[in-house]
Amino acid sequence: MKKLIPCILALVLLLGCASQEQKHTATILAMDTVMTLTAYGSQGETALTQAQQLINQLDAQLSLTREDSETNAINGSNGESVTVSATMLELVRQSVALGDSTGGALDVTLTPVIQAWGFIGGDYRVPEPQELADLLERVDYQKISVDTANNTMSLPENMAVSFGAIAKGYTGDLVMEQMKSAGVTSAIVTLGGNVQALGRKPDGSLWNVALQSPFGSDYLGTLEVEDVAVVTSGGYERYFQQEGETYWHIIDPATGYPAKSGLVSVTIVCDSGITADGLSTALFVMGLEDALDYWCTNGGFEAIFVTDDNKVYITPGLEGSFTLEKAYADLPLTVVE
Ligand code: ADP
Ligand code: MG
Repeated sequence: MKKLIPCILALVLLLGCASQEQKHTATILAMDTVMTLTAYGSQGETALTQAQQLINQLDAQLSLTREDSETNAINGSNGESVTVSATMLELVRQSVALGDSTGGALDVTLTPVIQAWGFIGGDYRVPEPQELADLLERVDYQKISVDTANNTMSLPENMAVSFGAIAKGYTGDLVMEQMKSAGVTSAIVTLGGNVQALGRKPDGSLWNVALQSPFGSDYLGTLEVEDVAVVTSGGYERYFQQEGETYWHIIDPATGYPAKSGLVSVTIVCDSGITADGLSTALFVMGLEDALDYWCTNGGFEAIFVTDDNKVYITPGLEGSFTLEKAYADLPLTVVE
């Protein structure tokens, strides 16, 4: 009996550890992309069920293609003030703040221009310069007004918001918050190209996040991270070609044309998914020089930039945690200062 007690205790401890670290996974299709969710521990399964419900609810709420979405209620408001959910209010508030901080490189009212190119709707074509000039008259996030005290917002007639550039980042933030409340301490979610990590792996080691290469269908490199969002925007993600020209889905609100800034991909690493998502798009629009200025002035995030002449630039905080894959080990890599 004396011998048995320590054995039982050891077994209980062992089982306890095993269930602590139990891996739960789910894959769902939402927001036009594949999402994989992984959560560890005894609360994992419940947390994943809740996460899926939350994602589906956000998808229905934010979607531009679903007629009954909250986004379409705003877009159909004919300039009248509309009462919106707390979730929408916060998303719009952050969209406007990101527009302000990036000098309008991120503009959630770019919708009619994005539609004209077919990046919403799928009817790809190159619009005429005059058509773009006319549509740009309807683009200006500064004309959105948000009244946080009364949960209302308004948008001038003929303008339309869409959140393709930040919805996944915002969703990731809400999912991670929910997972934390459910008691999960170790989780990783991949929402399309957005990766968000909670804590570390159950064994205490860092997560390895593989970054898609802008040059092919393989990986550019790996990042070792904990507790952050890693978001990449690249021209290669969605584009069409016409008469030898490539037109991609990241558009410069200053011109209405796909942003040809010399960058082919931008990865942002930071605490907030929505910031990482917004900045990955906006800094892609800005180009390397302005993006580095932005980083110097604002800070609060790390970044990896890849240029169209095959150079890689990383911010100092990623030195040591970012490794180029073998196939790309020869690319010139600069740590910016
Ligand atoms: P992905 O959705 O592929 O991860 P992004 O986060 O970079 O890529 O978002 C690109 C999407 O955002 C486009 O498909 C388009 O709907 C929208 N978009 C493109 N350019 C801008 C911009 N400058 N500001 C706001 N939204 C944009
Ligand atoms: Mg983005």
